[in-house]
Amino acid sequence: TLSDRLTSVFSSLRGKGRLSEEDIAATAREIRLALLEADVALPVVREFISQVKERARGEEVSKALNPAQQVIKIVNEELVEILGGQTREIRFAKNPPTVIMLAGLQGAGKTTLAGKLAKWLADQRNTPLLVAADLQRPNAVTQLQVVGERASVPVFAPEPGNGVGDPVEVARQSVEHARRGNHNVVIIDTAGRLGVDAEMMQQAADIRDAVRPDEILFVVDAMIGQDAVNTAQAFLDGVGYDAVALTKLDGDARGGAALSIRHITGRPIMFASTGEKLADFDLFHPDRMASRILDMGDVLTLIEQAQRTFEESEVEKMASTLASDADFTLDDFLQQMTMVRRLGPIGNLLGMMPGMGQMRDQVNNVDEKDLDRIAAIIQSMTPAERANPKVINGSRRLRIANGSGTQVSDVNGLVTRFFEAQKMLRQMKNGGIPGMPGMPGM
Ligand code: GDP
Ligand code: MG
Repeated sequence: TLSDRLTSVFSSLRGKGRLSEEDIAATAREIRLALLEADVALPVVREFISQVKERARGEEVSKALNPAQQVIKIVNEELVEILGGQTREIRFAKNPPTVIMLAGLQGAGKTTLAGKLAKWLADQRNTPLLVAADLQRPNAVTQLQVVGERASVPVFAPEPGNGVGDPVEVARQSVEHARRGNHNVVIIDTAGRLGVDAEMMQQAADIRDAVRPDEILFVVDAMIGQDAVNTAQAFLDGVGYDAVALTKLDGDARGGAALSIRHITGRPIMFASTGEKLADFDLFHPDRMASRILDMGDVLTLIEQAQRTFEESEVEKMASTLASDADFTLDDFLQQMTMVRRLGPIGNLLGMMPGMGQMRDQVNNVDEKDLDRIAAIIQSMTPAERANPKVINGSRRLRIANGSGTQVSDVNGLVTRFFEAQKMLRQMKNGGIPGMPGMPGM
């Protein structure tokens, strides 16, 4: 996998600083291969790589992730961004019906998608109407009727007086019909050919001009790989469209087509179709597609975990401060409380350290407001006072209370707590902290 390859690229690089030029170049080679294997078009790969390189150069080497993970994280984030970032929603017309027209090659999955989309919209309290404007194939109308029946959505099909033989007329009349019948969305299924064809393109353009759709969706089969880019461009030039629906994602296509189409046409991918059943349909999620293209959902999960674990390593640092540092100061105290609060459940690991259970309990008794107050008090002290609160006399306590907007009793309380913590630490150190280095999760 890409992850394995990157890990070997980076076997040498650990620790501080920035990713080196050689490492970035080697990484770029691996990512290029991974993207080409996923069927991403070459010009798109090039541009993408240069973007990732630029970002990798600027990035500090993360403490949480190894360099391979860090680059994968960058690649993933850039992929998500290029795939559209946010999921694009349907733009409904101010005056219904909202007209959605489907365009694409024969076999792309338009008719199937029409049914899925109709069902999906109906489930959200819309009242869609399916329109059979594919009069090219003898059974196309029947196919849509079957789909409509399954989705429990009515189908507007040509019949005498409804523009038999003329898809443009059928489409036009369907919009009128929808208006009369209170259908708030019209989904127009159109004819495709096996390849890009001028006559088909003209027919689609004529339907477009007749009904002025609110959304034209270009439906494309993810399995056709690199060809998807040419088809997408041809339909963009011939008909134009607002968004893309990607079908047959249940196949083994890695989905590079999505990246290429999005990048080359600038049109967002709105829907993903993942099977022949009506329910195999969803809004397009750029993050899911990114991990599919990278083929490393597991690695991405690991990266998230690693970042969370990083916070645990802060605990480790704190534990070693506690174990070694004789000069436990109020600054340390504040830092620990803040950390333990932020760590939430991870902070409970403290309980596994001998003697630390009390510390955790003490900290857990501090609520968010308390913490702000404590921080304010400590920040009102001089560095010398923070290092050794014993020097804080009565008049200083009053000044500190005034300076932090608290009461002298708050300052007293804090100082007392601090001395308790310090005492506890001393006891811990005398007793040693045996199990510490091998603690689970650290
Ligand atoms: P159209 O010519 O563009 O209308 O395409 P169709 O809707 O008739 O679909 C062509 C074939 O692809 C049919 O056999 C569908 O069942 C199948 N199909 C459509 N969408 C999907 C999908 O998401 N996954 C799979 N596996 N098959 C699909
Ligand atoms: Mg069809």
